[in-house]
Amino acid sequence: MAMAKKRIAVIGGGSSGLCTIKCCLDDGLEPTCFERSEDIGGLWRFKENPEEGRASIYKSVIINTSKEMMCFSDFPIPDDFPNYMHNSKIMKYFRMYADHFDLLKYIRFKTTVVSVTKRPDFSSTGQWDIVTESEGKQESAVFDGVMVCSGHHTNAHLPLDSFPGIEKFKGRYSHSRDYKNPQEFSGKRVIVIGIGNSGGDLAVELSHEADQVFLSTRRGAWVLNRVAEQGYPVDIVLSTRFKAFFKRMLTTSMVNQLAENRVNARFNHAHYGLRPQHRIMSQHPTINDDLPNRIISGKVLVKPNIREFTETGAIFEDGTREEDIDAVFFATGYSFSFPFLQDCVKVVENQVSLYKFIFPPHLEKPTLAFIGLIQPLGAIMPLAELQSRLATQVFKGLIRLPTESDMMADITQKKDEMSKRYVKSQRYTIQVDYIPYMDEVACQAGVKPKLLSLFLMDPKLAVEVFSGPCTPYQYRLRGPGKWDGARKAILTQRERIIKPLKTRVLDDYTGALVPYYLQIFLIVALIAVTFAYFPWSFFPL
Ligand code: FAD
Ligand code: NAP
Repeated sequence: MAMAKKRIAVIGGGSSGLCTIKCCLDDGLEPTCFERSEDIGGLWRFKENPEEGRASIYKSVIINTSKEMMCFSDFPIPDDFPNYMHNSKIMKYFRMYADHFDLLKYIRFKTTVVSVTKRPDFSSTGQWDIVTESEGKQESAVFDGVMVCSGHHTNAHLPLDSFPGIEKFKGRYSHSRDYKNPQEFSGKRVIVIGIGNSGGDLAVELSHEADQVFLSTRRGAWVLNRVAEQGYPVDIVLSTRFKAFFKRMLTTSMVNQLAENRVNARFNHAHYGLRPQHRIMSQHPTINDDLPNRIISGKVLVKPNIREFTETGAIFEDGTREEDIDAVFFATGYSFSFPFLQDCVKVVENQVSLYKFIFPPHLEKPTLAFIGLIQPLGAIMPLAELQSRLATQVFKGLIRLPTESDMMADITQKKDEMSKRYVKSQRYTIQVDYIPYMDEVACQAGVKPKLLSLFLMDPKLAVEVFSGPCTPYQYRLRGPGKWDGARKAILTQRERIIKPLKTRVLDDYTGALVPYYLQIFLIVALIAVTFAYFPWSFFPL
């Protein structure tokens, strides 16, 4: 008799939820996805008014991770889609993905998960009781596994306690989550607090309508461009295995210096009042091509932190004051929590203890996984997908997690590394680097590309895998979930990057890169020289 499929509850139908449903199906599990709103897409589905329990974006949001780096690994984004997509285009891609893999029928919309509790026999079965609520009615059901895909950009972090006098400020103040478009700020004087990607985007957009925008930052930021060398997307240029390998030969200080020189070559961060005390690798990148233009035009004035608010304005930490302020936006980030899990998983100031940012280490059975609870230097979607692929293998019992103490040791090590590298802020609790984290999870899932054998078997592909952008298709070349289209997707990725730009085709255009056999020669030479002079760089720190 065939074994009954394991029933898996997927909480949330955003990008993480969608790929999780698909991974469950690929691995012969039976998913039921609960989505509190009426549609898929999570954060990326724009609505004029913020909804409770769902992340909220402004109308103009354009993603800052490029299409080849953010796509799901077996479903490339159409070649004519722009490299950096508007939220409406992103939704289009998610809908294509859901349709192609027929995912919608597994989703129960307008259904909120209100509690997830261990069943009394959890230590032997690993099962969960899940209570959901839909149109005022509660229902309970038993599941063999739970995958939490509820996002971490929903709850506004509004640190009013740090801003004395805010209670007497007579203008309007709100969180960036509530910002939708700039028209109503025409002719106004607006302060934006925080210089993450929300703060940068809001300051720039508001400055086109407002009379004056002040961008207040407590520590400044290094600002990167979306458009990098030769007009390629910055993540395409930076996220290569070759660069990751090269980085290992350098000290952290050297890497910082090179990166800071690069961004300062575009505009001197000290002249623009943005230079922070911290090094560039110690922050989450603020990506904004327009901010320096708005600063040099005087439409955005960079200010230090606010010491206190007055009834009509603000006094900054340098003693300067700005009066007649109409509105203040706190672009001060988010905090996350999982109220439906009650005490099963504790989150304190965005600190949570999860093995590989996925599995709670203390459970008697590994039947709970968090998907997308990471803040990568790069796109989140392929990482969430890879997390799901690992989790479904674990749920099926094909991969065993280490002991609780080994998992705790790994968690502690990661926390230590994070706190050494990043400035102290509740922003930096779930930070991961794109290639190292993908490789780490892929290694466990048995899908990390084997470069050496690839060089021997398929040198053309190997060159692109090593020196080209580390696109998600690399993790479909082998192992469970191998996809036959992966090789082609990798070898055609540069065409998909250029295609949407070719709206005026030039006769003499040649996209010719260095021939691949010459690239092989250069790579072999580089490895030989490196091995001779920097042998330690072959071993991860
Ligand atoms: P979400 O998209 O937040 O989806 C979670 C879903 O879960 C929602 O639909 C919600 O309704 C549902 N849900 C929550 N609780 C429950 C419950 N109890 N029961 C049922 N359903 C529930 N990432 C990038 O990679 N690149 C970017 O450029 C980028 N830009 C961003 C821009 C902004 C303004 C913000 C705020 C974030 C950005 N992010 C970006 C990060 C973003 O979080 C991810 O891109 C992605 O949307 C996360 O998907 P998710 O499915 O994990 O979460
Ligand atoms: P964020 O990255 O957490 O940035 C929050 C900012 O607020 C930081 O500058 C932080 O400064 C500051 N801040 C926090 N608490 C403060 C306090 N008490 N006093 C003064 N300043 C304070 O939040 P976000 O910008 O909303 O971004 C959230 C996520 O969405 C990120 O992943 C981001 O990349 C993404 N995003 C992407 C886009 C896009 O793709 N276009 C747009 C917006 C957001 P410190 O550094 O000093 O803590």
